[in-house]
Amino acid sequence: MVMALTFDDGPSPQYTPQVLDILRDHGVQATFFVCGDNVLQYPDVVRRIVAEGHVLGNHTWSHPELDGLPAAEVRDQIQRTQDAITDISGRTPTLFRAPYGDFADAALAVCADLGLRPISWSVDPTDWANPGSEVIANRVLAGAATGAIVLDHDGTEGGDDNPAPGSGGDRSQTVAALSTYLPQLIDAGYAFTTPDAHPPLTAGAMLTLDSKPPPEVIRGR
Ligand SMILES: [Zn+2]
Repeated sequence: MVMALTFDDGPSPQYTPQVLDILRDHGVQATFFVCGDNVLQYPDVVRRIVAEGHVLGNHTWSHPELDGLPAAEVRDQIQRTQDAITDISGRTPTLFRAPYGDFADAALAVCADLGLRPISWSVDPTDWANPGSEVIANRVLAGAATGAIVLDHDGTEGGDDNPAPGSGGDRSQTVAALSTYLPQLIDAGYAFTTPDAHPPLTAGAMLTLDSKPPPEVIRGR
C-alpha cells in the first residue's frame, strides 16, 4: 500500500520546518509544491526540503487563477518559478500543480515545453480553511488508499508576513493533523512515495493536454 503526501503554497519559515520535523521522525518523503515568491523569500527552507530528501514541485510564482490569464503571463508565472527553484535548490522540478487545480490550457502547454508533469490530487482535507486538526486528520484517514495523493498546505500565498486574503495563513492545524494521521497510516501498513518516482500513482490525478481534471477535484488552493 503506497500513497503520496503533498504540501502546497510554501515554503513557510514557521510551518514548513515543523512539517519536515514530523516527516523526518517517521522517515517519510513528501512533495512540496512551492510558490516562486516564497522560494525567493525563504531560500533556507527550500534548501532544507531538498537536503532531507523531499521533492520540490512548481506551484506558480504568486498563486493566481491561471484560467483567463494571458498565455504570456501564465508562461512567466511558471518559468520564473522554475528558474528560482533551480537557482536556489540546484534541483529542476519535474512536477507542476496549478493553483486551485485550475489547469488552464496555456499552463498545460508550458508544462509540455518545460518537461513538467501536471499533477492534481485525490484527497483534499481542505486544511487551509482551518476546520480543526481532528477534522483534517479524519478526512485524510478516510481518503487513504493505494495510489492516493493527499493535498495539504504548509505555507501561504504571499508568505508568512503578508498572507493573501482568503488564504488561511495559519497552518498549525495542518501540522497537528499530520502528527496524528501519519503514525496511524504507517501503523495501517502504508508506505509513502513521491509522484515523480511513481508517475502512474493515481491515474485520475495525472493530467495531460487532453485530460482536464474532473470538476470534483477543483477545490483546493
Ligand atoms: Zn495552492
